Amino acid sequence: MTIMLEAAAAAKVEEKLYQNRYLVDAGRPHIKVRPHIVPSKALLALTHACPAGCYSQNDQGQVEASVDGCVECGTCRVLTAKTGEIEWNYPRGGFGVLYKFG
Ligand code: SF4
Repeated sequence: MTIMLEAAAAAKVEEKLYQNRYLVDAGRPHIKVRPHIVPSKALLALTHACPAGCYSQNDQGQVEASVDGCVECGTCRVLTAKTGEIEWNYPRGGFGVLYKFG
């Protein structure tokens, strides 16, 4: 039992996230980045701060979101609360993350 707990504690975040399942609501992303030319520092920070890696920069330097795999932690909502650069909602019932461990 102790060995199993130690192994679980030593697992990387990516390995833990892989245990989750996600039901995609095709064509209805629950988080959207509002159109922009130059992202604020807060919006740009999401490319590193999102634990599920949902944000990336395109070739023009704008931030894009692909919310498949979002764990609904709310980090992006908090970080951009003042700039209002994202539109954040919970997924519709039955969609989104399905936690395996809690
Ligand atoms: S709620 Fe959390 S996991 Fe989902 S997109 Fe925002 S930062 Fe990423």
